[in-house]
Amino acid sequence: MMRRREFVGACLATPLLLRPAFGASRLVVKGALEQGSLAIGHAGRGATVTVDGQQVRVSPGGAFAFGFPYDQLKPVSVEARFADGKTDSASFTPTARQYDIQRVDGLPQSTVTPPPEILERIKREGAEIFEGRTRDTAGDDFLSGFDWPAPGRESGVFGSQRIDNGVPMAPHFGVDMAAPTGTPIHAPADGVVTISADHYLNGGFILMDHGQGVSTSFLHQSKRIAQAGDVVRRGQVIGLVGQTGRATGPHLHWAMNWFQVKLDPSRSTKTPKPKPL
Ligand SMILES: [Zn+2]
Repeated sequence: MMRRREFVGACLATPLLLRPAFGASRLVVKGALEQGSLAIGHAGRGATVTVDGQQVRVSPGGAFAFGFPYDQLKPVSVEARFADGKTDSASFTPTARQYDIQRVDGLPQSTVTPPPEILERIKREGAEIFEGRTRDTAGDDFLSGFDWPAPGRESGVFGSQRIDNGVPMAPHFGVDMAAPTGTPIHAPADGVVTISADHYLNGGFILMDHGQGVSTSFLHQSKRIAQAGDVVRRGQVIGLVGQTGRATGPHLHWAMNWFQVKLDPSRSTKTPKPKPL
């Protein structure tokens, strides 16, 4: 029997959606259900799941992940086929967000309009990150939620339209935590380091894989401690805050992805936002 239900995020009183307990639904989706947020679903052992028609990996325990793009307006359709052959489906419309406009002046002009000889390097580093985010590994470290990786003042929010030195740029896809150079950065969850490298725009850069396409990244580090291939536990120090790459002051830019879908990590944290230092 196929049942279909609609969930519109804007109608919810709380940002956390638990699938209502009517019927005997075995398809549950939790998360902020906002534009730019990670959703975590459960469909039971042995289920297969599609998100907008694309099959996604399901953990042995029956969990799966997907992300709402920052500008997604349409509902996302999730269909599950359970181990016993029965099916269920539901669609989820993310709550629309209002994003700020943020002007950043005083950036090194060479990082806002890079010289032509640098563009090739920026392209190569971007391709390396793209490739790192295509990984679809069986781990489910994302299931335990995320801790804030560093203390500090939140100096930049996800999705804001950036105008850097007067030049309109892509939206800011991450959270900035302003903290002194040398402040330790802790792994927000268990995971595997897939990239640890010095990039032109990102500075000291680490990408961590938390399973099933969920990754987080850490930019502008003064020192990278974790190396590619390291299996890292939640809380382990992976690097130090810095001002390398395109940055006006020492801070951590923390980003989250579901594959190439850019997400707001602050919507997946389970610890309170840290106090400014
Ligand atoms: Zn940033």
